[in-house]
Formats: sequence, structure tokens, C-alpha cells
Amino acid sequence: MNKNVKKLLELQEIDNTSREKELRIDKLKQRKDNLKEKIEGLKEKEKEREERLETLKEKSEEKNREVDELQDQIEKYQKRLDEGIISFKETEALEEKIKHSTDRMEKLEDEAIDIMMKIDKTEEERAKQKTETKKAINENNEEIDELEEKKEELAEELQELGQERERVVQKIPDRLIDQYDRLRSTNNNPVVKIKNGVCQGCQMSVSKNTVKQARDSQGIATCENCSRILYVG
Ligand SMILES: [Zn+2]
Repeated sequence: MNKNVKKLLELQEIDNTSREKELRIDKLKQRKDNLKEKIEGLKEKEKEREERLETLKEKSEEKNREVDELQDQIEKYQKRLDEGIISFKETEALEEKIKHSTDRMEKLEDEAIDIMMKIDKTEEERAKQKTETKKAINENNEEIDELEEKKEELAEELQELGQERERVVQKIPDRLIDQYDRLRSTNNNPVVKIKNGVCQGCQMSVSKNTVKQARDSQGIATCENCSRILYVG
């Protein structure tokens, strides 16, 4: 095999390994983004829960205030009734008002109890979910750290491969590197084997002359069909 072709094969190996590592880095980045999104989602849910609880507490206070107001109102009506210096008609009207206010107050008290129960339940859930959220966030953060470490390792390996590539490139004539780079822009395997007279890049037969050329240690043989650089292994 032509020694330049041998070097090109070495270069191809480096380039493919680098590409594989780059793809792995991309995947790690994607996973990291997903985890970060998940964390944001969990925080958002927690915030929503807090807001829900806040609203319930406000509602509860409002109901209690209304109950107090009605209580005062009823007491006032009752006082006027007890003083007794009013007409029968007025008495009837006051009794009606007291009854109406009492009914309303009872209804409000029931509602206030419902809200209190809801608050208790939500607070219970909140405590449980807070622990779960914290655990999930910690786990996600741990995984993010691991991903980051792996990414750094890969980046270092990539850098080493880049240096190795430089060394190999220096040993190959420029015009061959150009030819290789051109082919590489469309194919991951610019240098392929001829097997049983067939180019292993495009699977087409090559001429006997090309096979002969590929065997020759002097020249560079290329596929008549796909232009890949050929060798006979
Ligand atoms: Zn071919």
C-alpha cells in the first residue's frame, strides 16, 4: 500500500473517532438541557403550589372576616330587639333580618371549614412534595455534574486527537490532504478498500487498471464512480 494512503487511513480513523466524540458531546449537552428543564419545571410547580396555598389562606381570612361582620350585625339587631322600644312591624323585620343573617353566617362558617380542610390537605401535600422535589433536583444536579465531567473528558480527548491529526497531516502532501478534505465534506470514508474489484464506498466495480494502481506503492488510485481514494488491503 502507498505509504501516503496508509497515512490517510490513519487520518480517517482519527477524524471518525473525533466525530464520534463530538456526537457524544452533543448528546450529553442535550441530556443536560433536558435535566435543567426538568429542574425548572419542578421549581415552577412548587411555586404554583405556594400560590394556590396563598390564595386559599386569603379566601379563608375573607370568610372569617365576613362571619365576624355578620356576627356584629346580628348582635346589633338583637340589641335593638332587646331594648323593645320599636313597633311590632319593626320587630318582625328585625327578626327576619336576624334569621337571614344567621343562615348566611352558618353557610359561611361551613365554607370556612371546607377551606381550612383544603389548606390542611395542601400543606400536607406541600411538605411531602417539597421533600420529593428536593430529592429530584439533587439527583438531577448530580447527573448534570457527571455529564459535565464526561463532557470535559471528551473535550480533552478531542483536543489530543486534534494534535495527533496535525502530526499526521504534516506527513502527507498538501494536495492529498486537499483531496481527502474535499471527499470528507460529503463522506465519512474518503479512503476505502477495493474488495473483489468493488469499491467499498459506492459498491461499484472499478477497472482492472484502477485495481493495479491501488496495488502500486507509488500512485494514488481513485474510484471512477465516487472519486474515493482506494487501496487494496
Ligand atoms: Zn467508489
